[in-house]
Amino acid sequence: MAQDQDRHQQRQQKLKQQVDERIANATEEKGLLLVITGNGKGKSTSGFGTVARAVGHGFNCGVAQFIKGTWENGEKNLLEKLGVTFHVMATGFTWETQNKQADTDAAQQVWQECKKMLQDPNLDVVLLDELTYMVTYDYIDLEELLTALNQRPSHQSVIITGRAAHRSLIELADTVSEVRNVKHAFDAGIKARKGIDW
Ligand code: ATP
Ligand code: MG
Repeated sequence: MAQDQDRHQQRQQKLKQQVDERIANATEEKGLLLVITGNGKGKSTSGFGTVARAVGHGFNCGVAQFIKGTWENGEKNLLEKLGVTFHVMATGFTWETQNKQADTDAAQQVWQECKKMLQDPNLDVVLLDELTYMVTYDYIDLEELLTALNQRPSHQSVIITGRAAHRSLIELADTVSEVRNVKHAFDAGIKARKGIDW
């Protein structure tokens, strides 16, 4: 028993040393680019969770949402009251329209607001929710996006969510997480739920 305890203590001590060393090595301070991608549920939730975290610390945040559902938006209802600016893609955008020009116009309108946010030194955190699709569908120019991200204020953090993030975004990002789908209620015929899914 005493031997077990000794071994455990040694292991933990070594682990602590390694962690302390890594913490000591992480000395750079800068705004981060985070990409949350993959096919599982939790990308937007993670993005909004980070915005809530930042708001809780008194930081200024802005949100752009590139796909407007037909339902109301719980995050917007809450965060707008706390001073977070929202830019949501105008109604009319749906995957079904298949009207490339109308969809491009709708995306471009929000993108112009995004560019302003990415130049605004007063904004500490900017969430670009479902942005990846705009690149995939060519509604937003990739080079223009990369330039705007590269030229943003150095303290500003940006979170991009959406499936199939372009490899250039993954390369540019500091932190990339892929949410994997293990199972989803929808596949079992369960309806999307207010407060959980939107
Ligand atoms: P959430 O907003 O819940 O974090 P998400 O941002 O990861 O989800 P999106 O692709 O943006 O995922 O889809 C948003 C909606 O689709 C949510 O209602 C979510 O529950 C649902 N959804 C997400 N992933 C899946 C999946 N693998 N199968 C079915 N529905 C999904
Ligand atoms: Mg989402």
